[in-house]
Amino acid sequence: MISQDTIVALATPSGAGAIAIIRVSGKEALTISQSIFESVSGKDILKQKSHTIHLGHIVDGPKIYDQVLVSLFKGPNSYTGENVVEISCHGSTYIQQQIIQLLLRKGCKMAEPGEFTLRAFINGKLDLSQAEAVADLISSENEASHQIAMQQMRGGFSNEISKLREELLNFASLIELELDFAEEDVEFADRTQFNDLLNRIEFVLKRLIDSFAVGNVIKNGIPVAIVGEPNVGKSTLLNALLNEERAIVSEIAGTTRDTIEDELVINGIGFRFIDTAGIRETKDIVESIGIKKTFEKIEQAQVILYLFDSLKFKVQSSEYISEIEKVKNKFPLKPLIVVINKVDLLSTEEVAIIRKQLETLNVTLETISAKEKIGVEDLKNQLMSFVNTGALRNNETIVTNSRHYYSLLKAFEEIQKVKFGIATNISSDLMAIDIRQALYYFGEITGQVTNDELLGNIFANFCIGK
Ligand code: GDP
Ligand code: ZN
Repeated sequence: MISQDTIVALATPSGAGAIAIIRVSGKEALTISQSIFESVSGKDILKQKSHTIHLGHIVDGPKIYDQVLVSLFKGPNSYTGENVVEISCHGSTYIQQQIIQLLLRKGCKMAEPGEFTLRAFINGKLDLSQAEAVADLISSENEASHQIAMQQMRGGFSNEISKLREELLNFASLIELELDFAEEDVEFADRTQFNDLLNRIEFVLKRLIDSFAVGNVIKNGIPVAIVGEPNVGKSTLLNALLNEERAIVSEIAGTTRDTIEDELVINGIGFRFIDTAGIRETKDIVESIGIKKTFEKIEQAQVILYLFDSLKFKVQSSEYISEIEKVKNKFPLKPLIVVINKVDLLSTEEVAIIRKQLETLNVTLETISAKEKIGVEDLKNQLMSFVNTGALRNNETIVTNSRHYYSLLKAFEEIQKVKFGIATNISSDLMAIDIRQALYYFGEITGQVTNDELLGNIFANFCIGK
């Protein structure tokens, strides 16, 4: 399954930097590195202890490539569990390339994507879900997704699953044992206790399954449709939100001019703002296509920010109110925030009148000035209130990986079957099949092999002497 090659790859981002790290892993990592390295102290790195750093030069015959630091990690005490050498060189792309080329000439193979982590998994340094968390960690771009990935990598997720799996495994062993005494009709596994365990498992699975919705949102950002006619201040509002957060706005590649998506991190949660046109009634074909698009965008969003220009609202409030009603009726379940912008242009009394007019609509209302940054903080809090971050605050396990999610769903189904089996008193052999299936899906998450372990567990726990 895994090659015996010694692999090499650049561990730092491609491109020039102050320093770059080239990582080598495999049986020959030390010997290959030794063949291109001359330490300043004159010592042979093969004879040095693990977890030590050495100053020297990368050389190829008479040619000197760079002065570098070489870090040694001898297997199994390394990230991959193999011998690992990390070469910190100067960060020019030329030097990086030259050293990698040299290592390839000396017998290394270029690492496949993720191969270091794959090796760590194969060598038992990480379980599958932890290995996947490494990838999430590398790609996490906000505080919340970073927190989830860190927790998963430290094993929070796997521990929870492994514990349940172990308990289930114990019952499985007892049930399997009953199979051996089938003629005698004995029950080693107490069905009431077993049912209690199944209820506990069901509860935890349900929570993990539900957390996926939160996890998914945190990982990908919460889509917010920002709806409003041209010039109501959509861009200004985005900038106002942005300035406060000092975050990076990125235009998502591939979006066209009429739907611009901006990403913005608020209180550690990523939001994706989808800029759309308003939905005014029109006979104009081009505009009605725009309305259709707006509805499509709202459909995809989790929250609607509906912006109005307060000066215009003042003079045509009834039209706008019916617009809001239309959106409300079309998307009754979607949180809607009506934002009256540019209140700096109105008197306090005029703002109060607008508030009064919108009262009957029973919508969340914010009166703001994007330009003068009035009410922007309130709007931000309002947005946050629509995000379920409870699980995150409580440091509960959150599932973000769809593979885990599907395994959890399957495991949940199997647990239902087992429970049904107990309720209807099915035979131990049929029950054993369902339990094995459930164990299999649990194992899928952490990457454990179930069947051998099941057998091992039976023999380890019982001496049935036959
Ligand atoms: P968009 O087309 O909806 O994105 O609107 P823009 O953000 O481009 O704003 C249109 C115009 O309205 C610009 O000239 C802004 O400076 C102005 N504007 C935006 N927000 C405010 C506000 O709160 N008060 C005032 N007085 N002008 C604003
Ligand atoms: Zn704009």
